[in-house]
Amino acid sequence: MKKDIEIAQEATIKPIIDIAATIGLQAEDLEQYGKYKAKIDWPAIKEIAKRPTGKLILVTAINPTPAGEGKSTVTIGLADGLNRIGKQTVIALREPSLGPVMGIKGGATGGGRAQVLPMEDINLHFTGDMHAITAANNALSALVDNHIQQGNELGIDPRRIIWKRVVDLNDRALRQVIVGLGGPLQGVPREDGFDITVASEIMAILCLATNLDNLKERLSNILIGYTYDKQPIYVKDLQVQGALALLLKDALKPNLVQTIEGTPALIHGGPFANIAHGCNSVIATETALHLGEYTVTEAGFGADLGAEKFLDIKTPNLSKAPDAVVVVATIRALKMHGGIDKEHLKEENVAALVAGFANLKRHVRNMQNYQLPVVVAINEFVTDTEAEIQMLEQCCKEIGVPIARTQVWEKGGAGGELLAQQVVTAIDEQPGNYRRLYQNEDSLPDKAAKIVKEIYGGSNVVFSSVAQRQLNVFKKNGWHQLPICMAKTQYSFSDDPQLLGAPDDFSITIREFVPKLGAGFIVALTGTVMTMPGLPKKPAALNMDVDADGNVSGLF
Ligand code: ADP
Repeated sequence: MKKDIEIAQEATIKPIIDIAATIGLQAEDLEQYGKYKAKIDWPAIKEIAKRPTGKLILVTAINPTPAGEGKSTVTIGLADGLNRIGKQTVIALREPSLGPVMGIKGGATGGGRAQVLPMEDINLHFTGDMHAITAANNALSALVDNHIQQGNELGIDPRRIIWKRVVDLNDRALRQVIVGLGGPLQGVPREDGFDITVASEIMAILCLATNLDNLKERLSNILIGYTYDKQPIYVKDLQVQGALALLLKDALKPNLVQTIEGTPALIHGGPFANIAHGCNSVIATETALHLGEYTVTEAGFGADLGAEKFLDIKTPNLSKAPDAVVVVATIRALKMHGGIDKEHLKEENVAALVAGFANLKRHVRNMQNYQLPVVVAINEFVTDTEAEIQMLEQCCKEIGVPIARTQVWEKGGAGGELLAQQVVTAIDEQPGNYRRLYQNEDSLPDKAAKIVKEIYGGSNVVFSSVAQRQLNVFKKNGWHQLPICMAKTQYSFSDDPQLLGAPDDFSITIREFVPKLGAGFIVALTGTVMTMPGLPKKPAALNMDVDADGNVSGLF
């Protein structure tokens, strides 16, 4: 079997101006980054916004195995499939982070015959957006430390700074650091820490901003920390929102690339869904919506994380809600939810599949509760057996949800035509009537309780004493009307990664909140989830290489 990178390298890639022409864009609408990548320029984005709005399809999944269940692969294959059945379609996806690329999970450019190109570039430095976000984030850290060093006019308490530095790598050694060591000329010593760039509030802001002015306004509202008398300090107090926006001015423009089959794809912004809000940028989704009759987009990890945040945090910032939701399931992950360990997932086990179906069923019901039509996609693996597939079809039939076999990894768009037909039918037959899970006016504990009870299937939320104290501060400062962005393990509905299937009667403990006022949400940290991941014993980096001619190998 060929590796993803081999398939990608054998594919014929077209000049990006040819791809742009298929969606009515000219060379002058683009800012090209070499032959195969381009950013769309502001005047073109404004013009595109005047075109009619297409349909929006959100791709999500069951709780995944560590390798991922093929959401990006299905997103890409579904878009190729829609184009094949004559529905003009554009993709809106997240950019990969170097943390997982060098670590365990791999890239985020799809797999097999359903990939976006050039996959090496997209998985590595792409158009530099991640680096720009890292630079903007760390520029703010440097400006804060310099303010304290230069006399600390604002009275910032170095012990109460919540703004952290970031790097786009999995680097556990940087989780907690002390900066400013070395005497009076080297700054004021204080505890600091690093998050991964994709968890940075700057990433969230870039993904939720609607234009450059909105970006600047959001940046100005970032909470840096508190003064000695516990008053909040914002970026606007330092007056550096202009400089931060400047560092991000190009990163805010969406990137245009193509699938192996030539479907246009906007790949822009990449917050993780477990520790951040998990969706590509609002600008990319909006632009795609006006470029295609259909837009296919993806939210990270399972529907308990990415899709909930797409629907409760991102959708209110979009001009329209999704018209349909596709829930991706794999036979192997369902067997894992049915109690089978990693080593035996390739063996036929219909009973385990039936037991694990509870996980899929809960995700489907959750998405239907948003009043949106749902279609299940079986992302088929060569190890799946007919008996297992038929049983899964049967289970879906019993709960009345349409299901489509998809072989996009093996066959590209041809393997996604059935899914494409089903999704189009679902949209035509049942117009979506999106209903958000909670309202901004609900209190933060009520919002958390709704997510835990109605999405996760848990019984209650427990707040640590730290979280309790924070709730009082937030109320006093008027921040309680913001949405909640849960930081939780992706492997389980609960905050315990070992609790698979569809557990009941568990509680979720919120150990701490992190206000992200520029992004416009409050992150709730649960369980042991970390905003700076670590590398595994054998990182993917061990397989990577580049030869003397610049040919890349080992990127999956
Ligand atoms: P997700 O978006 O859910 O994290 P991806 O689409 O990135 O998952 O896929 C993760 C990995 O699994 C990729 O390396 C991809 O090639 C592989 N993969 C996905 N679907 C299949 C399939 N049907 N058969 C074999 N490998 C697959």
